[in-house]
Amino acid sequence: MIVMKFGGTSVGSAEKIRAVLKIVGRETERAPAVVVSAHAGVTDALLELGAVAPGGEVCTERIESCHREILRDLGLAEDLHDDLFSELRDLVRGMRLVGEASPRAKDSLVSFGERCSARTIAAFLSANGFPAQAVDAFDAGLRTDGNSGRARPLPDEGRIAGYMAGIDGIPVVTGFIAKDVHGNITTLGRNGSDYTAALFGQALGAEEIQIWTDVDGILTADPKIVPDARPIPAMSFDEASELAYYGGRVLHPATILPAIEDAIPVRVLNTSRPDLPGTIILAKFENTSNAVCSIVYKRAINLINLISPRMLQQHGFLAKVFTAAATREIDVDIVATSEVSITMTTASNENLAAFAADLESIGEVSVEPDHAMLCVVGQGIAHEKGVAARVLTTIAESGVRVRVISQGAVKVNVATVIGEADLECAVKALHEAFFG
Ligand code: ASP
Ligand code: MG
Repeated sequence: MIVMKFGGTSVGSAEKIRAVLKIVGRETERAPAVVVSAHAGVTDALLELGAVAPGGEVCTERIESCHREILRDLGLAEDLHDDLFSELRDLVRGMRLVGEASPRAKDSLVSFGERCSARTIAAFLSANGFPAQAVDAFDAGLRTDGNSGRARPLPDEGRIAGYMAGIDGIPVVTGFIAKDVHGNITTLGRNGSDYTAALFGQALGAEEIQIWTDVDGILTADPKIVPDARPIPAMSFDEASELAYYGGRVLHPATILPAIEDAIPVRVLNTSRPDLPGTIILAKFENTSNAVCSIVYKRAINLINLISPRMLQQHGFLAKVFTAAATREIDVDIVATSEVSITMTTASNENLAAFAADLESIGEVSVEPDHAMLCVVGQGIAHEKGVAARVLTTIAESGVRVRVISQGAVKVNVATVIGEADLECAVKALHEAFFG
Protein backbone atom coordinates (compact mmCIF):
# COMPACT_ATOMS: atom_id res chain seq x y z
CA MET A 1 0.00 0.00 0.00
CA ILE A 2 0.99 3.62 -0.33
CA VAL A 3 0.30 6.78 1.67
CA MET A 4 -0.71 9.88 -0.32
CA LYS A 5 -0.61 13.11 1.63
CA PHE A 6 -2.18 16.29 0.27
CA GLY A 7 -1.22 19.59 1.87
CA GLY A 8 -3.40 22.64 2.51
CA THR A 9 -2.95 24.25 -0.91
CA SER A 10 -3.49 20.87 -2.62
CA VAL A 11 -6.97 20.71 -1.02
CA GLY A 12 -7.45 24.48 -0.94
CA SER A 13 -10.37 24.74 -3.36
CA ALA A 14 -12.97 22.63 -5.16
CA GLU A 15 -10.81 22.77 -8.27
CA LYS A 16 -7.77 21.44 -6.40
CA ILE A 17 -9.85 18.69 -4.81
CA ARG A 18 -10.95 17.61 -8.29
CA ALA A 19 -7.27 17.26 -9.16
CA VAL A 20 -6.82 15.17 -6.00
CA LEU A 21 -9.61 12.87 -7.16
CA LYS A 22 -7.79 12.21 -10.44
CA ILE A 23 -4.46 11.64 -8.72
CA VAL A 24 -5.90 9.22 -6.17
CA GLY A 25 -8.07 7.56 -8.79
CA ARG A 26 -5.10 6.43 -10.84
CA GLU A 27 -3.40 4.81 -7.84
CA THR A 28 -6.25 2.63 -6.61
CA GLU A 29 -4.41 -0.65 -7.31
CA ARG A 30 -1.73 0.40 -4.84
CA ALA A 31 -4.31 0.58 -2.01
CA PRO A 32 -3.73 4.21 -1.08
CA ALA A 33 -4.36 5.66 2.35
CA VAL A 34 -4.92 9.37 1.86
CA VAL A 35 -3.80 11.89 4.51
CA VAL A 36 -5.06 15.46 4.25
CA SER A 37 -4.40 18.89 5.72
CA ALA A 38 -7.05 21.49 6.38
CA HIS A 39 -8.01 23.63 3.36
CA ALA A 40 -5.40 26.36 2.85
CA GLY A 41 -5.90 29.22 5.30
CA VAL A 42 -8.27 27.37 7.62
CA THR A 43 -5.71 26.54 10.33
CA ASP A 44 -4.62 30.19 10.42
CA ALA A 45 -8.24 31.35 10.60
CA LEU A 46 -8.95 28.94 13.47
CA LEU A 47 -5.87 30.08 15.37
CA GLU A 48 -6.98 33.68 14.93
CA LEU A 49 -10.38 32.75 16.26
CA GLY A 50 -8.72 31.22 19.30
CA ALA A 51 -6.74 34.39 19.85
CA VAL A 52 -9.80 36.67 19.93
CA ALA A 53 -12.45 34.32 21.33
CA PRO A 54 -11.57 34.87 25.01
CA GLY A 55 -11.96 38.64 24.56
CA GLY A 56 -15.51 38.81 23.27
CA GLU A 57 -18.25 37.76 20.93
CA VAL A 58 -16.74 36.11 17.86
CA CYS A 59 -18.35 34.33 15.04
CA THR A 60 -17.39 31.19 13.21
CA GLU A 61 -19.36 32.19 10.13
CA ARG A 62 -16.36 32.85 7.90
CA ILE A 63 -14.85 29.43 8.57
CA GLU A 64 -18.20 27.70 8.14
CA SER A 65 -19.00 29.43 4.87
CA CYS A 66 -15.58 28.66 3.42
CA HIS A 67 -16.28 24.95 3.96
CA ARG A 68 -19.87 25.20 2.69
CA GLU A 69 -18.67 26.89 -0.47
CA ILE A 70 -16.23 24.08 -1.23
CA LEU A 71 -18.93 21.48 -0.52
CA ARG A 72 -21.35 23.31 -2.84
CA ASP A 73 -18.75 23.61 -5.61
CA LEU A 74 -18.09 19.89 -5.34
CA GLY A 75 -21.80 19.08 -5.54
CA LEU A 76 -21.87 17.67 -1.99
CA ALA A 77 -24.42 18.23 0.77
CA GLU A 78 -23.74 21.63 2.30
CA ASP A 79 -24.81 20.45 5.73
CA LEU A 80 -22.11 17.74 5.85
CA HIS A 81 -20.21 19.46 8.66
CA ASP A 82 -23.14 20.91 10.62
CA ASP A 83 -22.50 18.69 13.66
CA LEU A 84 -18.84 19.67 13.68
CA PHE A 85 -19.74 23.35 13.31
CA SER A 86 -22.10 23.28 16.27
CA GLU A 87 -19.32 21.64 18.31
CA LEU A 88 -16.97 24.39 17.09
CA ARG A 89 -19.40 27.14 18.15
CA ASP A 90 -19.76 25.55 21.60
CA LEU A 91 -16.01 25.48 21.99
CA VAL A 92 -15.64 29.12 21.00
CA ARG A 93 -18.47 30.11 23.36
CA GLY A 94 -16.72 28.20 26.14
CA MET A 95 -13.51 30.15 25.50
CA ARG A 96 -15.44 33.40 25.74
CA LEU A 97 -17.22 32.36 28.96
CA VAL A 98 -14.03 31.43 30.76
CA GLY A 99 -12.15 34.30 29.12
CA GLU A 100 -9.27 32.02 28.26
CA ALA A 101 -8.01 29.85 25.42
CA SER A 102 -5.75 27.24 26.98
CA PRO A 103 -3.24 25.46 24.74
CA ARG A 104 -5.37 22.35 25.03
CA ALA A 105 -8.51 24.21 23.94
CA LYS A 106 -6.61 25.72 21.02
CA ASP A 107 -5.59 22.27 19.82
CA SER A 108 -9.24 21.21 19.90
CA LEU A 109 -10.10 24.34 17.98
CA VAL A 110 -7.59 23.85 15.15
CA SER A 111 -8.53 20.17 14.84
CA PHE A 112 -11.76 21.20 13.07
CA GLY A 113 -9.78 22.16 9.95
CA GLU A 114 -8.50 18.63 9.29
CA ARG A 115 -11.68 16.94 10.53
CA CYS A 116 -13.76 18.90 8.00
CA SER A 117 -11.40 18.54 5.07
CA ALA A 118 -11.05 14.75 5.55
CA ARG A 119 -14.86 14.44 5.52
CA THR A 120 -15.25 16.62 2.44
CA ILE A 121 -12.62 14.71 0.48
CA ALA A 122 -13.91 11.29 1.50
CA ALA A 123 -17.43 12.33 0.48
CA PHE A 124 -16.17 13.64 -2.84
CA LEU A 125 -14.18 10.48 -3.64
CA SER A 126 -17.20 8.36 -2.73
CA ALA A 127 -19.53 10.46 -4.88
CA ASN A 128 -17.21 9.92 -7.85
CA GLY A 129 -16.84 6.19 -7.90
CA PHE A 130 -14.10 5.66 -5.31
CA PRO A 131 -15.77 4.57 -2.09
CA ALA A 132 -13.89 6.30 0.74
CA GLN A 133 -14.18 6.83 4.47
CA ALA A 134 -13.02 9.79 6.56
CA VAL A 135 -10.84 8.68 9.48
CA ASP A 136 -9.93 10.90 12.42
CA ALA A 137 -6.32 9.94 13.10
CA PHE A 138 -6.99 9.78 16.84
CA ASP A 139 -9.73 7.18 16.28
CA ALA A 140 -7.21 5.19 14.28
CA GLY A 141 -4.96 5.15 17.36
CA LEU A 142 -2.53 8.01 16.75
CA ARG A 143 -1.51 8.82 20.35
CA THR A 144 0.85 11.52 21.53
CA ASP A 145 2.17 12.98 24.74
CA GLY A 146 0.16 15.84 26.19
CA ASN A 147 2.36 18.61 24.83
CA SER A 148 -0.31 20.81 23.26
CA GLY A 149 0.64 22.50 20.01
CA ARG A 150 3.68 20.32 19.39
CA ALA A 151 2.89 16.89 20.69
CA ARG A 152 5.23 13.94 20.08
CA PRO A 153 3.81 10.57 19.03
CA LEU A 154 3.84 7.63 21.43
CA PRO A 155 4.83 4.16 20.19
CA ASP A 156 2.13 2.77 17.93
CA GLU A 157 2.09 -0.87 19.07
CA GLY A 158 -0.03 -2.01 16.17
CA ARG A 159 -3.07 0.17 16.94
CA ILE A 160 -3.10 1.98 13.61
CA ALA A 161 -2.74 -1.12 11.40
CA GLY A 162 -5.43 -2.89 13.43
CA TYR A 163 -7.88 -0.05 13.05
CA MET A 164 -7.17 0.67 9.40
CA ALA A 165 -7.69 -3.00 8.46
CA GLY A 166 -11.36 -2.51 9.29
CA ILE A 167 -11.86 0.51 7.01
CA ASP A 168 -13.86 -0.09 3.83
CA GLY A 169 -12.74 1.75 0.74
CA ILE A 170 -10.08 4.44 0.64
CA PRO A 171 -9.31 5.86 4.07
CA VAL A 172 -8.99 9.67 4.15
CA VAL A 173 -7.10 10.41 7.34
CA THR A 174 -6.82 13.75 9.15
CA GLY A 175 -3.24 15.03 9.17
CA PHE A 176 -1.77 17.07 12.03
CA ILE A 177 -4.10 15.98 14.84
CA ALA A 178 -4.01 13.22 17.44
CA LYS A 179 -5.03 12.60 21.06
CA ASP A 180 -3.09 12.14 24.26
CA VAL A 181 -3.65 9.14 26.53
CA HIS A 182 -6.39 11.02 28.39
CA GLY A 183 -8.35 11.58 25.20
CA ASN A 184 -7.51 15.28 24.77
CA ILE A 185 -6.97 16.42 21.21
CA THR A 186 -3.36 17.35 20.43
CA THR A 187 -1.55 18.64 17.33
CA LEU A 188 1.86 17.72 15.93
CA GLY A 189 3.01 21.30 15.25
CA ARG A 190 2.44 23.48 12.19
CA ASN A 191 2.69 21.56 8.93
CA GLY A 192 2.38 18.38 10.96
CA SER A 193 0.39 16.51 8.33
CA ASP A 194 3.60 15.29 6.70
CA TYR A 195 4.47 13.75 10.03
CA THR A 196 1.08 12.02 10.18
CA ALA A 197 1.71 10.66 6.69
CA ALA A 198 5.08 9.25 7.72
CA LEU A 199 3.69 7.77 10.94
CA PHE A 200 0.85 6.08 9.08
CA GLY A 201 3.26 4.94 6.37
CA GLN A 202 5.43 3.33 9.05
CA ALA A 203 2.50 1.82 10.93
CA LEU A 204 1.01 0.35 7.76
CA GLY A 205 4.28 -0.80 6.19
CA ALA A 206 3.76 1.44 3.14
CA GLU A 207 5.92 0.84 0.08
CA GLU A 208 5.96 4.59 -0.61
CA ILE A 209 4.87 7.85 0.99
CA GLN A 210 3.81 10.54 -1.47
CA ILE A 211 3.80 14.15 -0.33
CA TRP A 212 1.60 16.09 -2.76
CA THR A 213 2.27 19.79 -2.58
CA ASP A 214 2.42 22.96 -4.68
CA VAL A 215 5.99 22.73 -5.99
CA ASP A 216 7.62 20.42 -8.54
CA GLY A 217 9.70 18.67 -5.90
CA ILE A 218 12.65 19.65 -3.75
CA LEU A 219 14.59 22.27 -5.67
CA THR A 220 18.28 22.95 -6.15
CA ALA A 221 17.75 26.38 -4.51
CA ASP A 222 14.99 28.71 -3.34
CA PRO A 223 13.24 29.85 -6.56
CA LYS A 224 12.58 33.23 -4.97
CA ILE A 225 16.32 33.86 -5.20
CA VAL A 226 17.20 31.60 -8.13
CA PRO A 227 14.36 31.62 -10.67
CA ASP A 228 15.86 28.77 -12.70
CA ALA A 229 16.28 26.46 -9.72
CA ARG A 230 15.18 22.95 -10.71
CA PRO A 231 13.76 19.89 -9.00
CA ILE A 232 16.25 17.34 -7.71
CA PRO A 233 15.22 13.92 -9.15
CA ALA A 234 16.54 11.80 -6.28
CA MET A 235 18.37 12.27 -3.01
CA SER A 236 19.38 10.32 0.06
CA PHE A 237 17.71 10.54 3.45
CA ASP A 238 20.85 12.17 4.85
CA GLU A 239 20.67 14.93 2.30
CA ALA A 240 16.93 15.38 2.77
CA SER A 241 17.23 15.66 6.55
CA GLU A 242 19.90 18.29 6.15
CA LEU A 243 17.76 20.17 3.63
CA ALA A 244 14.62 19.88 5.69
CA TYR A 245 16.44 21.43 8.61
CA TYR A 246 17.55 24.42 6.61
CA GLY A 247 14.90 24.74 3.96
CA GLY A 248 11.86 23.55 5.82
CA ARG A 249 9.91 24.81 2.85
CA VAL A 250 8.84 21.51 1.44
CA LEU A 251 9.19 18.87 4.11
CA HIS A 252 8.81 18.94 7.86
CA PRO A 253 12.18 17.67 9.19
CA ALA A 254 10.56 15.18 11.51
CA THR A 255 8.66 13.68 8.58
CA ILE A 256 11.84 12.03 7.54
CA LEU A 257 12.34 10.13 10.77
CA PRO A 258 9.64 7.42 10.73
CA ALA A 259 10.34 6.91 7.03
CA ILE A 260 14.12 6.61 7.58
CA GLU A 261 13.62 4.03 10.29
CA ASP A 262 11.82 1.73 7.87
CA ALA A 263 13.56 2.81 4.65
CA ILE A 264 10.27 3.84 3.07
CA PRO A 265 10.83 6.04 0.00
CA VAL A 266 9.24 9.47 0.24
CA ARG A 267 8.24 11.15 -2.99
CA VAL A 268 7.48 14.88 -3.23
CA LEU A 269 5.05 15.69 -6.05
CA ASN A 270 3.12 18.65 -7.47
CA THR A 271 -0.69 18.37 -7.33
CA SER A 272 -1.01 20.85 -10.20
CA ARG A 273 1.45 18.97 -12.42
CA PRO A 274 0.96 15.33 -11.44
CA ASP A 275 2.84 13.92 -14.41
CA LEU A 276 6.16 15.38 -13.35
CA PRO A 277 8.41 12.87 -11.57
CA GLY A 278 8.97 15.06 -8.48
CA THR A 279 11.76 14.24 -6.04
CA ILE A 280 12.26 10.81 -4.52
CA ILE A 281 14.02 10.48 -1.19
CA LEU A 282 15.64 7.10 -0.62
CA ALA A 283 17.31 5.54 2.39
CA LYS A 284 20.46 5.05 0.34
CA PHE A 285 21.21 6.87 -2.85
CA GLU A 286 24.45 7.70 -4.60
CA ASN A 287 24.30 10.71 -6.85
CA THR A 288 26.96 10.12 -9.44
CA SER A 289 26.21 13.12 -11.66
CA ASN A 290 26.52 15.97 -9.18
CA ALA A 291 28.50 16.26 -5.95
CA VAL A 292 26.00 18.78 -4.66
CA CYS A 293 22.23 18.46 -4.54
CA SER A 294 20.97 21.74 -3.14
CA ILE A 295 21.80 25.13 -1.72
CA VAL A 296 19.80 26.13 1.33
CA TYR A 297 19.83 28.84 3.92
CA LYS A 298 18.33 30.11 7.13
CA ARG A 299 17.84 33.79 7.76
CA ALA A 300 17.77 35.76 11.02
CA ILE A 301 20.71 33.99 12.60
CA ASN A 302 22.65 35.42 15.52
CA LEU A 303 26.37 34.95 15.94
CA ILE A 304 27.38 34.66 19.56
CA ASN A 305 31.09 35.12 20.27
CA LEU A 306 32.62 34.23 23.58
CA ILE A 307 36.26 35.07 24.22
CA SER A 308 37.95 33.87 27.35
CA PRO A 309 41.68 33.42 27.92
CA ARG A 310 40.63 31.35 30.93
CA MET A 311 39.50 28.71 28.48
CA LEU A 312 43.13 27.72 27.89
CA GLN A 313 43.72 24.25 29.24
CA GLN A 314 40.52 24.23 31.24
CA HIS A 315 38.37 21.16 31.67
CA GLY A 316 34.62 21.52 31.38
CA PHE A 317 34.65 24.87 29.69
CA LEU A 318 32.37 23.88 26.82
CA ALA A 319 30.19 22.01 29.29
CA LYS A 320 29.56 25.27 31.13
CA VAL A 321 28.64 27.07 27.94
CA PHE A 322 26.26 24.37 26.77
CA THR A 323 24.69 23.90 30.17
CA ALA A 324 23.83 27.60 30.05
CA ALA A 325 22.41 27.13 26.54
CA ALA A 326 20.31 24.17 27.67
CA THR A 327 18.98 26.02 30.71
CA ARG A 328 17.90 28.94 28.57
CA GLU A 329 16.54 26.62 25.85
CA ILE A 330 18.87 28.03 23.21
CA ASP A 331 19.25 25.81 20.15
CA VAL A 332 22.84 26.08 19.03
CA ASP A 333 23.30 25.30 15.34
CA ILE A 334 26.93 25.74 14.39
CA VAL A 335 29.84 25.87 16.80
CA ALA A 336 33.42 26.84 16.03
CA THR A 337 36.07 26.88 18.72
CA SER A 338 39.63 28.06 19.01
CA GLU A 339 41.90 27.82 22.05
CA VAL A 340 40.44 30.96 23.57
CA SER A 341 37.13 31.57 21.90
CA ILE A 342 33.84 30.01 20.84
CA THR A 343 31.51 31.18 18.14
CA MET A 344 28.00 29.79 18.07
CA THR A 345 24.96 30.48 15.95
CA THR A 346 21.36 30.45 17.02
CA ALA A 347 18.02 31.62 15.68
CA SER A 348 16.41 34.48 17.55
CA ASN A 349 14.93 33.44 20.82
CA GLU A 350 13.36 35.41 23.65
CA ASN A 351 16.02 34.08 26.04
CA LEU A 352 18.95 35.15 23.92
CA ALA A 353 19.77 38.26 25.96
CA ALA A 354 19.59 36.28 29.19
CA PHE A 355 21.85 33.59 27.72
CA ALA A 356 24.38 36.23 26.67
CA ALA A 357 24.25 37.67 30.19
CA ASP A 358 24.89 34.20 31.66
CA LEU A 359 27.97 33.86 29.46
CA GLU A 360 29.38 37.15 30.78
CA SER A 361 30.48 35.25 33.85
CA ILE A 362 32.69 33.08 31.62
CA GLY A 363 34.24 35.65 29.29
CA GLU A 364 33.75 38.52 26.95
CA VAL A 365 30.51 38.13 24.98
CA SER A 366 29.18 39.75 21.85
CA VAL A 367 25.99 38.99 19.95
CA GLU A 368 25.81 39.90 16.26
CA PRO A 369 22.34 39.70 14.75
CA ASP A 370 21.40 39.83 11.03
CA HIS A 371 23.36 36.84 9.82
CA ALA A 372 22.35 33.90 7.67
CA MET A 373 23.44 30.29 7.55
CA LEU A 374 24.17 29.25 4.02
CA CYS A 375 24.66 25.59 3.42
CA VAL A 376 25.58 23.46 0.45
CA VAL A 377 24.22 19.93 0.74
CA GLY A 378 25.36 16.91 -1.22
CA GLN A 379 26.84 13.48 -0.65
CA GLY A 380 29.66 14.28 -3.05
CA ILE A 381 31.07 16.52 -0.35
CA ALA A 382 32.12 13.35 1.46
CA HIS A 383 33.90 11.61 -1.39
CA GLU A 384 34.90 14.22 -3.93
CA LYS A 385 37.93 16.35 -3.26
CA GLY A 386 37.69 20.10 -3.29
CA VAL A 387 33.95 20.66 -2.99
CA ALA A 388 34.31 22.70 0.20
CA ALA A 389 37.11 24.69 -1.41
CA ARG A 390 34.89 25.43 -4.39
CA VAL A 391 32.09 26.57 -2.10
CA LEU A 392 34.38 28.99 -0.29
CA THR A 393 36.07 30.28 -3.43
CA THR A 394 32.71 30.90 -5.09
CA ILE A 395 31.39 32.83 -2.11
CA ALA A 396 34.62 34.85 -1.86
CA GLU A 397 34.59 35.65 -5.57
CA SER A 398 31.04 36.97 -5.25
CA GLY A 399 32.50 39.52 -2.84
CA VAL A 400 30.91 38.06 0.28
CA ARG A 401 32.79 37.62 3.52
CA VAL A 402 32.41 34.29 5.32
CA ARG A 403 32.25 34.54 9.10
CA VAL A 404 32.11 30.87 10.13
CA ILE A 405 32.67 27.60 8.30
CA SER A 406 31.56 24.20 9.41
CA GLN A 407 31.77 20.80 7.84
CA GLY A 408 30.28 18.12 10.04
CA ALA A 409 31.50 14.57 10.38
CA VAL A 410 28.53 13.30 8.38
CA LYS A 411 29.97 15.32 5.51
CA VAL A 412 26.85 15.84 3.49
CA ASN A 413 27.06 19.56 3.93
CA VAL A 414 29.32 22.55 4.09
CA ALA A 415 27.75 25.27 6.21
CA THR A 416 28.85 28.88 6.31
CA VAL A 417 27.63 31.93 8.16
CA ILE A 418 27.48 35.22 6.26
CA GLY A 419 25.80 38.59 6.68
CA GLU A 420 22.10 38.35 5.89
CA ALA A 421 22.37 41.25 3.44
CA ASP A 422 24.83 39.17 1.35
CA LEU A 423 22.60 36.13 1.16
CA GLU A 424 21.03 36.56 -2.27
CA CYS A 425 24.33 37.34 -3.90
CA ALA A 426 26.03 34.26 -2.42
CA VAL A 427 23.12 31.89 -3.18
CA LYS A 428 23.04 33.02 -6.83
CA ALA A 429 26.79 32.61 -7.20
CA LEU A 430 26.76 29.11 -5.69
CA HIS A 431 23.85 27.98 -7.83
CA GLU A 432 25.61 29.22 -10.94
CA ALA A 433 28.83 27.45 -9.91
CA PHE A 434 27.27 24.07 -9.14
CA PHE A 435 24.21 23.96 -11.42
CA GLY A 436 24.75 26.71 -14.02
N1 ASP B 1 -3.16 22.38 8.82
C1 ASP B 1 -1.94 22.35 9.57
C2 ASP B 1 -1.14 23.63 9.34
O1 ASP B 1 -1.57 24.49 8.58
C3 ASP B 1 -1.13 21.13 9.32
C4 ASP B 1 -0.59 21.01 7.90
O2 ASP B 1 -0.99 21.73 7.00
O3 ASP B 1 0.25 20.13 7.70
O4 ASP B 1 -0.12 23.80 9.93
MG1 MG C 1 0.84 22.85 5.06
